[in-house]
Amino acid sequence: MNDQGISQACSNHKEKICCNGNLFIISAPSGAGKTTLCRAVLDRIPNMLYSVSYTTRKPRKGERNEIDYYFITENDFKNRIKNGKWAEWAKVYGNYYGTSSEFIDKSLASGRDILLDIDFQGTLQILDQYHDGITIFIMPPSSDILKLRLESRGTDSKHVISRRIEVANKEMENKDFYRHVIINDKLSVAVADLISVIAKYRTG
Ligand code: 5GP
Repeated sequence: MNDQGISQACSNHKEKICCNGNLFIISAPSGAGKTTLCRAVLDRIPNMLYSVSYTTRKPRKGERNEIDYYFITENDFKNRIKNGKWAEWAKVYGNYYGTSSEFIDKSLASGRDILLDIDFQGTLQILDQYHDGITIFIMPPSSDILKLRLESRGTDSKHVISRRIEVANKEMENKDFYRHVIINDKLSVAVADLISVIAKYRTG
């Protein structure tokens, strides 16, 4: 297992530099408010597509299949690895997560902009193929607030929360790698910041 709590990740070294749409790659430690921010952006920016990831993790309360994630079995996930279906994949907190190549390629080729919510390892793999990807890191205002947010979410056990905090602290060490960093202290301000970053790259 490496620093990001990831025991395996794909190495898919195809280069794909010819894109029409923009690829926005958003990463954040768990509890930084990334999901809320992404939803707000998708509500406000017309034509932006969200790349729904695939995962072998069990759905949390309120999560819907094909909307929050495609929830699939480990067997199915591994078959898709064999068949080269992932633009990137990683094992995070003991579960597999992956992004569909077909979805990304078709969407970009048709000129659509895409929002990708993936971790640092996934970001590195995506940039390896899609050199023009625009990377954005969302930071919580402080580690204490991150802990409070994870606890108040009430979806994870104490053990999982402390593991997530450990991994979050490691993930935050990577923030300078990203082209843009947004601090999610006040949600409305962070949404406005994120929209203004995205707007800089969009033509339509
Ligand atoms: P969660 O289980 O809390 O929804 O997500 C855990 C972590 O997995 C988050 O850091 C999230 O960004 C990351 N993640 C979600 N989907 C993907 C994906 O398709 N690929 C990669 N590499 N990471 C993902």
